[in-house]
Amino acid sequence: MKLRGKILFGGIGLMAVAMLLLGVMMIRAHRATYLEEAELRARAFLSMLAVASRGPVASGSLEDLDSMLASLIEHDLDLLDIQFVSIVDTNRRVIGHTDTRHYGTRPSDPFIIDAVAATEPLVRRIDNDDLLLVSMPMDTAVPGKSSIRWGTVVAGIGLERVRSGLVELFLRAVPTILIFVGLVTLLVGWRLERSVIRPVRELTASARAFAGGNLDARASIESDDELAVLCETFNRMSDQIARYTRQLEDEIRARTRELEEANRQLEALAITDALTGMFNRRYFEEALDKELRRCQRVDSPLSLLMMDVDHFKLYNDRHGHQAGDDLLRRLAKIVQRRVRETDMACRYGGEEFTIILPGTTTPDALVVASQLRQMVEEHPFAFAETQPSGKVTVSIGVATFPDHAEDKAGLISCADKAMYLVKQGGRNGVRAAPSEPVS
Ligand code: GH3
Ligand code: MG
Ligand code: MG
Repeated sequence: MKLRGKILFGGIGLMAVAMLLLGVMMIRAHRATYLEEAELRARAFLSMLAVASRGPVASGSLEDLDSMLASLIEHDLDLLDIQFVSIVDTNRRVIGHTDTRHYGTRPSDPFIIDAVAATEPLVRRIDNDDLLLVSMPMDTAVPGKSSIRWGTVVAGIGLERVRSGLVELFLRAVPTILIFVGLVTLLVGWRLERSVIRPVRELTASARAFAGGNLDARASIESDDELAVLCETFNRMSDQIARYTRQLEDEIRARTRELEEANRQLEALAITDALTGMFNRRYFEEALDKELRRCQRVDSPLSLLMMDVDHFKLYNDRHGHQAGDDLLRRLAKIVQRRVRETDMACRYGGEEFTIILPGTTTPDALVVASQLRQMVEEHPFAFAETQPSGKVTVSIGVATFPDHAEDKAGLISCADKAMYLVKQGGRNGVRAAPSEPVS
């Protein structure tokens, strides 16, 4: 059940119980008044009866008493709710009764015994308040002496009408009570709707929006009660969470960027030769595979240059490994300066370099190789004069797909063979792979 239903049901229940209690209290008060009234009426009636029957009793004319009782039965019995009237003498013998069957009996009813003994009128309620017993001594006052007692009048008065009157009163009050409860419930409900349910609903909507990812969702309650405090606390909490979340997001973004950068560097490192900054052999293998496949697909040639430094061992031995490294780095720069954007210059190993020239035929590749050879020969390397030919030189072999080989291994092997032939031919030169297999 929703909050509104709970509050309304609780309210209605409470109101109903309160109104019921109020009704019961009201009826109890009315009942006391009614009973008091009934007693007064009974007493008045009985003193009248005592006065009226005193004469006949005193004079012993019981016929008069009978006719009086008979007229009473005829006229007033129902009117006054009288159930019986009994007149007993001082010996408690019944000398008059609305029911003639009791004549002459001597009732042992405790009330009649008390009533005969008492000098004052008695009133008693019996049978669960259904019957009111009233007694009135029948005596004649004698001035200066104690009065003469002739007997006692006893009457039983039914209280049925009091009870039904109260029930009727209660039933008449029910619609008023219901209307009142309804009105109060409506009023209370309207107040609750404004001061509790609506703010709670607004707070819930904000919390839901916030939970759904809208970090700007805030609640606004204009009141000075606990709900406003709750709302303010919720907003403060939301501010904090939003701040932390944004900080976290910023941090994650920064970390992701760093990670991406590190990954890029790692990838670059994985394909770069540490000494020269050229692509390494691993990259060369992959790139040659890829380029070969592409050239096969578009039916385009591809040339591979294999370059080796002449008498490099000698250079190393004479000037040290460090000087050898310097030479390799300079050589790499010369190569990288010469090749096109689409070409790939790699360090194949030691002092051997490979250059992939996609879309390049053997004659064009030979031109590139010759230019490279010349550039190296003309470059003023340190200690160049100590080399056998008085300068640093390279030998370059050229192999072309699909002229010399169709696959990677074949192409490398052909370029290597061509380079070997240059070495054999005296070094510092370029040449294409032989069309016929070299033995
Ligand atoms: P050739 O003209 O026949 O090629 O003679 P070469 O001396 O160049 O012969 P070889 O290929 O046998 O010698 C290669 C030498 O390169 C051997 C090795 O000391 C040197 N070398 C290989 N890698 C490096 C390197 O990274 N740094 C340096 N400084 N030297 C290297
Ligand atoms: Mg070598
Ligand atoms: Mg060499």
